[in-house]
Amino acid sequence: MSECLFCKILNNEIPSNRVYEDDYVYAFEDINPLAKEHYLFISKNHSENFNDLSSDDLVHIHQAIKKFTSGTKLETDGYRVVTNINSFGGQTVFHTHFHVLGGEQLKGFGV
Ligand code: AMP
Ligand code: ZN
Repeated sequence: MSECLFCKILNNEIPSNRVYEDDYVYAFEDINPLAKEHYLFISKNHSENFNDLSSDDLVHIHQAIKKFTSGTKLETDGYRVVTNINSFGGQTVFHTHFHVLGGEQLKGFGV
């Protein structure tokens, strides 16, 4: 059994509020939202972070975010995509994830 928190979410061992899913990607609400809308997009394949993510999975996540936002206010108003990498990047969960933040005017580059 995986000890990875987000793999546990993928395996339904830990609950999450799903907002999007396809064959490759799962997305859910961040438990500690830093904007009115704050979602995490993860690949169903475990990788530690952006450095370890396959190019195929990067494409799948890109496509998923575009599908999810298409036709919504996120698309027209704008949003931010962030992936934190290792210590200086502020990464705390070591299963690659892309924060999607929006629903309000975001300030600066902090999340
Ligand atoms: P990072 O600091 O970039 O590694 O982001 C990890 C994110 O995971 C943080 O924004 C946390 O609020 C979020 N998080 C941690 N545990 C959970 C959980 N059980 N469900 C949803 N989001 C979580
Ligand atoms: Zn994992």
